Amino acid sequence: MYTQSIIKSTITKTPGEHEFHQALTEVLSSLAIIIDNNPFYKDTGILEMLVAPERIIQFRIPWLDDTGRIRVNTGWRVQYNSALGPYKGGIRFHPSVSQSVLKFLGFEQTFKNALTGLPIGGGKGGADFDPKGRSNAEIMRFCQSLMTELYKYLGADEDIPAGDIGVGAREVGYMYGQYKRITGLVEGVFTGKGISYGGSLGRTQATGYGLLYLLDEMLTHAGNGLPGKQVTISGSGNVAIYAAEKVAQLGGKVICMSDSGGYIHDAAGIDLDAIKEIKLVNRGRIKDYLEYRPTAKYHEGQSIWQHPCDIALPCATQNELTAGDAKSLAANGCIAVAEGANMPCTNEAIKVLQANNILYAPGKAANAGGVAVSALEMSQNSQRQSWTFEEVDNRLKAIMSNIFTQISQGAQEHGMKGNYVAGANIAGFKRVVEAMLAHGAV
Ligand code: NDP
Repeated sequence: MYTQSIIKSTITKTPGEHEFHQALTEVLSSLAIIIDNNPFYKDTGILEMLVAPERIIQFRIPWLDDTGRIRVNTGWRVQYNSALGPYKGGIRFHPSVSQSVLKFLGFEQTFKNALTGLPIGGGKGGADFDPKGRSNAEIMRFCQSLMTELYKYLGADEDIPAGDIGVGAREVGYMYGQYKRITGLVEGVFTGKGISYGGSLGRTQATGYGLLYLLDEMLTHAGNGLPGKQVTISGSGNVAIYAAEKVAQLGGKVICMSDSGGYIHDAAGIDLDAIKEIKLVNRGRIKDYLEYRPTAKYHEGQSIWQHPCDIALPCATQNELTAGDAKSLAANGCIAVAEGANMPCTNEAIKVLQANNILYAPGKAANAGGVAVSALEMSQNSQRQSWTFEEVDNRLKAIMSNIFTQISQGAQEHGMKGNYVAGANIAGFKRVVEAMLAHGAV
């Protein structure tokens, strides 16, 4: 079969890139039903083009720490696919960043961006830099050094990065400032900017809020709803915090949140003001929550998914929810999993969720709200306008609703009702490939 042969040959050509292989296998396996039954795709050879990034830039990032010692990290920008528009995707700072991680993220991003219906291609970047414990001045020097190299490849109509793990408003500000200093251009080359210099209202909340808008649609479609449900959210960063905020607004109760150290359980419902102060103001650890709510429990180094909940929202990182975790969720009566993070469920975990009839929304659909509002930020920058929070939020709701319709129909049309993994991959694939073919192959 064509899809299996492309998976095999791509894996052979990219040894050791495990995260990329995982994303590739998940996407192409679920596309087999449309690709292998249609000789047109094989005859054009379009899959070979689709799986290969257009360009990967790798560079050295030397920077001075506070003692005056030189440190060196590696940075990458994967410009995956520009068929639908300029490359768009975040920048990640984490010691686990590698070419493989950024290729998986860029590949997924291409389909995700297609699902938004907006004119944006797919890309992703980052560095194997650990921001934990670094001073503000060190973070600034690191961001400036990274941008001194990367600026050559960016532009408001070429490649527009944003934040991701380890990169929030502070880091975006430093990178954008260096880009402006070097090029002299005041343009919408980054999204997630501060509101005072071109950022969009609602961008900070967009991924978390969008996740809940999609979850709400999925639950309603299944004759269920959020009010009264106990929700577990992994992570306590940008996506997790605003997902938690929207859960409460829609009548659910968040009972567990985490960071890489462990998770907290608060049967009374998580006090989100406390989490915001710990994480956004103090840059502290989730266990500090016990100082605010001594009755809560902290579980160091344990999987958050072992704790019973009605709805699970993985919002931390890739492969954080394993097949074993999925079995525990099923045994504990969980009814839905929606991914705020990118590829948080392993492929084996997805199979367990589906086998147990747990509603499952894959990240490329469920967390697309962030990049959608990034594209709205680009529109506002081009028009030299700034929209109200309500206007942005209403557009976000409409985009997430449209994504749910696409993934639902994509699955149903191919006899896989309720399989939103297949639905998302099929809908995204069709839009990207149509544009690629329109542009000609070479
Ligand atoms: P942040 O850096 O703001 O937060 C990440 C959170 O995840 C932190 O609480 C971090 O804890 C935790 N975490 C990281 N690794 C682990 C781990 N191994 N186990 C448990 N917790 C962990 O990142 P974001 O919230 O921006 O991103 C989270 C996810 O959402 C990523 O997969 C990202 O790609 C995805 N995403 C983000 C979007 C955005 O708009 N920001 C858009 C779409 C997707 P600690 O501080 O201890 O490391």
